[in-house]
Amino acid sequence: MTQQIGHLIDGERLNDGASTQPVYNPATGEVCAELAMASPQVVEQAISSAKQAFPAWAATPPAARAQIMYRFKQLLEQNQDKICELITLEHGKVLSDAKGELARGIENVEYACGIPELLKGEHSRNVGTKIDAWSEFYALGVVVGITPFNFPAMVPLWMWPSAIMCGNCFILKPSERDPSSALYIAELAQQAGLPKGVLNVVNGGVDVVNQLIDAPEVQAVSFVGSTPIAEAIYERSASQGKRCQALGGAKNHAVILPDADLDVVTNSLMGAAFGSCGQRCMAISVAVTVGDKVADALVAKLAPKVEALKVGPGTDNSNEMGPIITGAQKQKVIGYIDQAIEQGASLVVDGRTKSVPQYEAGFFLGGTLFDNVTPEMTIYQQEVFGPVLVVVRVETLEQAVRLINEHEYGNGTCIFTRDGEAGRYFSDHVMVGMVGINVPLPVPVSYHSFGGWKRSLFGDLHAYGPDSVRFYTRRKAITQRWPSRGVQDGTQFSFPSYSEDD
Ligand code: NAD
Repeated sequence: MTQQIGHLIDGERLNDGASTQPVYNPATGEVCAELAMASPQVVEQAISSAKQAFPAWAATPPAARAQIMYRFKQLLEQNQDKICELITLEHGKVLSDAKGELARGIENVEYACGIPELLKGEHSRNVGTKIDAWSEFYALGVVVGITPFNFPAMVPLWMWPSAIMCGNCFILKPSERDPSSALYIAELAQQAGLPKGVLNVVNGGVDVVNQLIDAPEVQAVSFVGSTPIAEAIYERSASQGKRCQALGGAKNHAVILPDADLDVVTNSLMGAAFGSCGQRCMAISVAVTVGDKVADALVAKLAPKVEALKVGPGTDNSNEMGPIITGAQKQKVIGYIDQAIEQGASLVVDGRTKSVPQYEAGFFLGGTLFDNVTPEMTIYQQEVFGPVLVVVRVETLEQAVRLINEHEYGNGTCIFTRDGEAGRYFSDHVMVGMVGINVPLPVPVSYHSFGGWKRSLFGDLHAYGPDSVRFYTRRKAITQRWPSRGVQDGTQFSFPSYSEDD
């Protein structure tokens, strides 16, 4: 019998669902589990469990909450093999890549362990004579997170450890394509001593998301996924006066200047464009070459490497690329490649017909490389989310920056150069949230926040790090004075302000 994946509500697994949906092993193309899609009653149970848990949890000292996070971190490390197996089974990425993903998730748990320091607030003594003022940070209540398929363990860990350490109760709605690692990780948090209801996981699709956003108990919404859905979720949340951060899609450019070391650039681009099959929101999908000489030399170096990419199941660590997440997504990527050829791009390496022996039904694609792509082409304008790298040729650094700034997305970007002045010019002028200088995937560490500009993020604050503490708390500013007994100041009708006479 196929395994059933359910929910985690009030500290217990619950396999109840209005319907079920298959979860695939993308390497074999076979169904590996059936996912219970939560009914409205199950969603209600999760909300009510979180609501009930909130007052006691919010009143628990931050240092006591942090003790649970320390134990949880140890459990993550002890169970990393199991977690990575689940990621690879349902997502398809190579095990070593799954391990990297989990390590970046654990970083966020470590950051959340510092919550007593992070919630310390701000204090000013003597803002006026014998008057003190300070800010305190309060939990919001019940908050929800909706996460994408491509980092099934890491993106949930961007959200809920910080949210619950701030004193909130959290409801996670993982991607329906690969929900098991997030569910298993949530169970580890229960084992670490998290009180029931502080973290609930409900599985499902659009209906579940909408019910969660619209619930009066829900105060804030964190979302990571594609741009059209991010925008819709932001608008739905904001129209109800709810706080929302919605991170969307990307088109990340790497600029290659004539002075760059092309061997370094080639190796960097191979990993950044084709790692995880190009299914990363920070994947480099456009190489912008400055000058034709660089373009010709780079394409000559990239082509044999793209051709030779080792593609196969993620369970074999010697593979460089696993499968695409679904058959439908594979067809979508092939459609973008077909269209680019029709629109006049030069196909250098064609990954459309890749087949892996013994895994013929898996959703595999080889790497694809295009040269002479122009900004009018669909393959340049849209997020492909597959193993496709395109080369766009420009003449100057200024043209490269303008090209990037005119794109609707602004998640990540990087420049390869040995010229410090050019690197500085680039980071000063490029309208993108995360910038690498000779660093192809500039994903910030957990103590710097993550987020893009333009249509890559809707909302005001970035994910994880210091911004997440701001996002998951509301501020109270307190001003206090203790007048001496018996001393009367008289009535003051002017607006209170500081003056040297005070
Ligand atoms: P997706 O937008 O299809 O799904 C994301 C989540 O939204 C899932 O949990 C899904 O169930 C839910 N969802 C889907 N349709 C919905 C709808 N109509 N209404 C409400 N909820 C809905 O994204 P995906 O395919 O899982 O993930 C890939 C996308 O995520 C890419 O665009 C990628 O760039 C983006 N992404 C962005 C970041 C970032 O930090 N900016 C990080 C990872 C992934």
